[in-house]
Amino acid sequence: MERIFEVDPWQIVTHQLDRKHKRLQESMTSIGNGYMGMRGVFEEDYSGDSLPGIYLGGVWYPDKTVVGWWKNGYPDYFGKVINAINFIKTNLKIDGQAVDLGKDEVTAFKLALDMHNGVLTRQFIVTKNNKQVQVTIERFVSIVQKELCALRYTVENLASEAVEIEISSMIDADVQNEDANYGEQFWQVIEQSDAADDTYLVGKTMPNDFGVPRFSVGVQIDHQTTMMADTGLQEAHQVGQRFKQQLAPKTQLNFEKRAVVVTSRDYSELDLVPNMQRIKQVVAQQSYQQLLAAQTNQWAKRWQMADVVIVGDDSAQQGIRFNLFQLFSTFYGEDERLNIGPKGFTGEKYGGATYWDTEGFAMPLYLSLSDPKVSLNLLKYRHNQLSGAEHNARQQGLKGALYPMVTFNGIENHNEWEITFEEIHRNGTIAYAIYNYTRYTGDETYLLNEGIEVLTEIARFWADRVHFSQRAQRYMIHGVTGPNEYENNINNNWYTNLLAQWTLSYTIETLKKVSDTKKADLRLSDAELSQWQAIIEKMYLPQDEQLGIFLQQDGFLDKDIQPVSAIPADQRPINQHWSWDKILRSPYIKQADVLQGIWYFMDRFSAAEKKRNFDFYETLTVHESSLSAAVHAILAADLHYEDKAVEMYARTARLDLDNYNNDTDDGLHITSMTGSWLAIVQGFAGMRISDEGQLSFKPFLPKKWTAYEFHINFRGRLLKISVTADRTDIKLLKGDRLAIQVNDASMMLE
Ligand code: BGC
Repeated sequence: MERIFEVDPWQIVTHQLDRKHKRLQESMTSIGNGYMGMRGVFEEDYSGDSLPGIYLGGVWYPDKTVVGWWKNGYPDYFGKVINAINFIKTNLKIDGQAVDLGKDEVTAFKLALDMHNGVLTRQFIVTKNNKQVQVTIERFVSIVQKELCALRYTVENLASEAVEIEISSMIDADVQNEDANYGEQFWQVIEQSDAADDTYLVGKTMPNDFGVPRFSVGVQIDHQTTMMADTGLQEAHQVGQRFKQQLAPKTQLNFEKRAVVVTSRDYSELDLVPNMQRIKQVVAQQSYQQLLAAQTNQWAKRWQMADVVIVGDDSAQQGIRFNLFQLFSTFYGEDERLNIGPKGFTGEKYGGATYWDTEGFAMPLYLSLSDPKVSLNLLKYRHNQLSGAEHNARQQGLKGALYPMVTFNGIENHNEWEITFEEIHRNGTIAYAIYNYTRYTGDETYLLNEGIEVLTEIARFWADRVHFSQRAQRYMIHGVTGPNEYENNINNNWYTNLLAQWTLSYTIETLKKVSDTKKADLRLSDAELSQWQAIIEKMYLPQDEQLGIFLQQDGFLDKDIQPVSAIPADQRPINQHWSWDKILRSPYIKQADVLQGIWYFMDRFSAAEKKRNFDFYETLTVHESSLSAAVHAILAADLHYEDKAVEMYARTARLDLDNYNNDTDDGLHITSMTGSWLAIVQGFAGMRISDEGQLSFKPFLPKKWTAYEFHINFRGRLLKISVTADRTDIKLLKGDRLAIQVNDASMMLE
């Protein structure tokens, strides 16, 4: 655990240039606008340790799967997000000496990310040639004009003599990923211009052997400054402009750089240049102040809907705001072709691809905080990828559709056998999200049209993946990895079996409502349906009668069961200290597994069942997946374990802010950032929606807090929920009257 930024309700701020934690600083100061985003890397060259990262949504590269022993079923390639052409690069020289914060001693350092408007500011005083100069750099990626990244430099000469300032503003395609098979360069430059009023570069991703389309990206930079344009700069893979100015004592200069980034996802390759020139013109009509005001205004609208206000605990407040800020910087639902990568635009890990995290953890938040079409688009994204999921099932020799663990296009992009082949529970969550959406919105249109196609193919997969044990006279699923990835190749993971059984029955139930034409399209025979019914009735769900718990998997209780508290503190997180073999043999649980299933179907389990399972599994859980704490917070709140719920809230809300798992240096845990919102809304406020669409709350207030407040969209209404120690107020701000339940009592919102 490490806290390198100050606690502040609206900012991520530090006054330390912390070279040792530079990567962590960069992760924490990431910004994005759904279309593009970047780590908080410095604009100028930095000679210390750093993880450069600028990423464009949906721009990726298929890299060859390299393994020692090729096993049939492996995907041919894995996809990864690639470092984009660097358009923020801007080098600064003072009296001819380069500023490099890897070496230079600076004073009055401040790095601050303002969550009101997504502006990242860095300020410092540096001494060069015995002269002190103060530098302030602001940057933001616009949520109004998605192609725009704006930078503004203010350089002030604090010395009593004149000083020469030189700024080289670049576009640099000479970039690499840290994680690359062969140290590849991903960009071929196809066009570049260093004309003073038309500086641009167009690059194209390298060819690949897998038939995956290549991406072309155009970047144009434009400058507004009183500095003298010195010369255009051209090198292989780089283009830019140099500016110079003699700065009189006690005066300052301003320099603005606007980068416009367009991609072949939106325009044909030939149209990139005219379109970026067009957007440059649009942007040029506005001053920096106007662009910034529009940005602030747009963020204010987002906050008005989504902000969760916590009174009495700034660190909890900062946690939820940071998470919402980063989530919306990654995905605001504007582009239905995009999804939510577990690291968003903040790192290379997880390749920027789509995981089950979206349906499992992000969907409930977007359902409540955005227009229903955003969640609908997330569902459509999977429907559009159905043929890829069918391909994945075929790769495993199975029928139906197996949604990928990791993907850009529906094809499995992950190449560890214990995940690709075995972590099939993900398929259940894709189906569950359809149910979750339908239950929340009350709208069955998607379910009965596209949804049933997805459900049917997933059901077909499960029906083929189970086997019938003659001895037990039960259907079983062997050779899987559950959500708890610290167990591989296990038999009868309760959660997986439960989701398989549930998908089959939800699909059968839904089929009763679909049109005859639709049914005919699905080519379902009576024999197939009765096989599904038999599986539902005879699915084996391991349990232990004596302990009264569901068993994570066959044989789990034969392990050497010791609580997490028995692990010496210096051996945690265990995934950074223990061999994989030791982890697999241990009883320790990476993330909610049985409890994930209980969370999905909360109202189907009795309070006693929830309690027994929570009490047993919680003591064995190390929460080394960021997805774990939220589920525990919600269940703990449900069981009135308020202190535990608050502890788990802190863990999910401040996972990155406090670097709980010692792994934030390579990026933020974006998808799990929904966890803090879930912990407050489903946990502390106890929000539930029944199958019949009944919305209910059972709020409590954490001891340290004075009050909290949030909004939700629900079936055309906007509700404001305020909780203090002695009362809960629920106001209907928009929409028709609505009957809800609060602490089991009915009330009508008018
Ligand atoms: C978790 C997975 C998750 C992935 C991406 C892993 O550590 O175990 O459940 O999908 O991270 O967030």
